[in-house]
Amino acid sequence: MTAQPNNDFVQEVVARGGDSVTMCFQCGTCTASCPSGRQTSFRTRKLVRMAQLGLKDEVLNSQELWYCTTCYTCTERCPRNVAIVDIIIAMRNMAVAEGKMFDGHRKTAQSFVKNGHTVPISAEVKAQRKAMGLPEVPPTVLANEKAMADFDKILKATGFKKTIGE
Ligand code: SF4
Ligand code: SF4
Repeated sequence: MTAQPNNDFVQEVVARGGDSVTMCFQCGTCTASCPSGRQTSFRTRKLVRMAQLGLKDEVLNSQELWYCTTCYTCTERCPRNVAIVDIIIAMRNMAVAEGKMFDGHRKTAQSFVKNGHTVPISAEVKAQRKAMGLPEVPPTVLANEKAMADFDKILKATGFKKTIGE
């Protein structure tokens, strides 16, 4: 079946902060600059074009939506000042609202819930810290019981845990 343009999708991307999406004139500078695209099938220009055309299902179900590392190189180089990362984040938020999330991002979010930050403290890291004369657990929210309890309240109040399936 031929994909159908969905203008509501473009308007939703605009409403969620991707208002420069209509400014793209498809020069391809973003794709040529993208370090992720050099290693994967991700093509920044194509994703922006799909957004312009309102290809909602195709965008929200694509793996490529999650391949951007948010390095901002494309945004710095775009001759039309398209806020490409804002557009990608807007579309990711829409995907997550529909229960679609890249596995790697879900795991990172789960680590965030568990540790108060996204990088887990492994046994090896603890041993290295100890050998360097540092506390095994860094002085982040993880080392503070009250801060962790407050953090948990925020996660519950915002629905973050439910969103990531915790
Ligand atoms: S660099 Fe900007 S104008 Fe060019 S294709 Fe990418 S988003 Fe569009
Ligand atoms: S911000 Fe994302 S799309 Fe832009 S160059 Fe970096 S990885 Fe590529």
